[in-house]
Amino acid sequence: MQTRRPDGEILDRTANLERFDLPLSPAGLTAIRQGRTRVEVASTENGRLLIYSLPVRRDGQILGVLQLGRSLSDYDQAQGTLGRILFAGGLVALATAFASGWLLAGMALRPIHQITRTARAIGRLRDFSQRVPYAGPSDEIGELARTFNAMLEELQAAYVQLEHAFQAQRRFVADASHELRTPLTTMRGNLELLRREPPIPPEDQREVLEDLITESDRMIRLVNDLLALARAEAGQALRREPVPLRPLLSELGRQVRRLARGQIIETPEAPEASALADPDLLKQVLLILIDNAIRYTPPGGRITLQARIEEMSIALDVQDTGPGIPSEILPHIFERFFRGDPARTGGGAGLGLSIARALVEAMGGTIEVQSQVGVGSTFTIRLPRSPDEATSSAK
Ligand code: ADP
Repeated sequence: MQTRRPDGEILDRTANLERFDLPLSPAGLTAIRQGRTRVEVASTENGRLLIYSLPVRRDGQILGVLQLGRSLSDYDQAQGTLGRILFAGGLVALATAFASGWLLAGMALRPIHQITRTARAIGRLRDFSQRVPYAGPSDEIGELARTFNAMLEELQAAYVQLEHAFQAQRRFVADASHELRTPLTTMRGNLELLRREPPIPPEDQREVLEDLITESDRMIRLVNDLLALARAEAGQALRREPVPLRPLLSELGRQVRRLARGQIIETPEAPEASALADPDLLKQVLLILIDNAIRYTPPGGRITLQARIEEMSIALDVQDTGPGIPSEILPHIFERFFRGDPARTGGGAGLGLSIARALVEAMGGTIEVQSQVGVGSTFTIRLPRSPDEATSSAK
């Protein structure tokens, strides 16, 4: 506390001020002289001071000034600390917001990065077995990862299928070339013999010519078979019409009896029904099976050709009492160029059953075999039953 005279001169001060003056601005002094109190903030070397000055009056006359000073350093210090805390807190909040934003964005975008990486790796390595690892929630990104993986699965299946088809095609071309080369080499050897000087004896010449005819017949058969197989596998435009079983089987029975080499041919009466098929191709398939049965069944054996009605299909059996097919080769007999025991095969190229299967499948049917060594074999073709009859007989 401090007192001044009305002209501003200091009169006295309390001991806590020591020798320190509480300042009063000229504007403050003027206000005091006019009888008004005055509040001022003064900056001193010890910090800011809040100074309250009020006039001391007696009988309406200003006798002096009473000044009270209060240090603002606590307040300033607290304000400074608060400012620093706010600034530091703001910085931390900003850094946290930035880091968590960055982290969240990174987490959200990780599956997309993985999809991009996987797609790039697949493009580079052609490895469709790769998948995007995703264990997150099933949101839009999860959906994207799942769709991408499903697409990869489809692609992988298509690629594997294509690869198998390509390999099968390559094997087929190699096998076909090999099969064609054998008769051609024999024919070439025979032609060389005919060109010899001096010529070979006339009876040998006849034999060589016979061989040439046999080999060229074999080649014609082989080329015809290859053509039939290519057509069947290309799924040529097929006629699909009701083929009545009775006339079909009785005609085939007559034909087979002419071809048989001492085997007994049985054709039990066929049911009154029709299969849905291409009549010419169905006959071709049955002739392949019958031809095999005749070739593999010894004289005196029995070959049965019969038709059965099943719920929605027609089953046609070609059964023989031949040697049967060993179980280890049974799964392969429908493969192209597959031949069983070469000592027993009747000179076929191993294409008959693959042609039969391709034709049956092109007609929307199936072919299967049951066989027991020493007992015989049964080949069964199943074809759709003509729908008109299937429904009318069900009534
Ligand atoms: P192939 O020209 O050799 O007869 P196929 O494709 O017709 O060719 O038959 C493949 C193989 O299946 C034959 O080599 C033979 O081993 C076996 N096979 C086919 N039909 C019969 C049958 N009825 N009895 C015994 N084996 C058979």
